Amino acid sequence: MKIICIGRNYADHAKELQNPVPQQPLVFMKPSSALLVNHKPLYYPSFTKNLHYEVELVLKICRNGRHVQPEFAHKYYDQVALGIDFTARDLQDRCKAKGHPWEIAKAFDGSAALSEFISIDQVDLAAIPFSLHKNGTTVQAGNTKDLIFSFDFLISYLSQYFKLHQGDIIYTGTPAGVGAVAIGDRLEAFLELKNKEIRSMLQCEIR
Ligand code: MG
Repeated sequence: MKIICIGRNYADHAKELQNPVPQQPLVFMKPSSALLVNHKPLYYPSFTKNLHYEVELVLKICRNGRHVQPEFAHKYYDQVALGIDFTARDLQDRCKAKGHPWEIAKAFDGSAALSEFISIDQVDLAAIPFSLHKNGTTVQAGNTKDLIFSFDFLISYLSQYFKLHQGDIIYTGTPAGVGAVAIGDRLEAFLELKNKEIRSMLQCEIR
């Protein structure tokens, strides 16, 4: 399976890191070894001094497809989850400055925390509120209505380059409020369902 990630997909987040708002999706990938599931803790990697959280809405691909037209894209995903795109910001800044790829900053073991998936029938796909708490305080609050590139656009765009396989997942980008974690911090991600229930989807402790 592939883990495809979209960068800078909320204008307020692009701004906070002094990045331009992209004209086309910014795409990178993580290997399956990056997955961190079942609320497992993340052990603070020794190679970074500035580990950041980025909470993101995650889509799961439910059928294979290439060159998917935007009007059919909604048929290619049927579940959503929340994830944390953990980022070694210091390494990423160094890679960016040199024009190098990001993988050591973005694709390391445990860098893709992932909740359980729920059916898209349980959410208002056009406007899913979600948030991240750090030690009980809200640090990020976003809504998928603010996506620069919509789910359907992303599916169509990505499928021009990569054959989408059933089971692939897509991290769709983070809203503003990214920040650093320290050992001992507890992260918890929440998603609002269609029926207004706010569900705790993901817990992750930094050890
Ligand atoms: Mg991200």
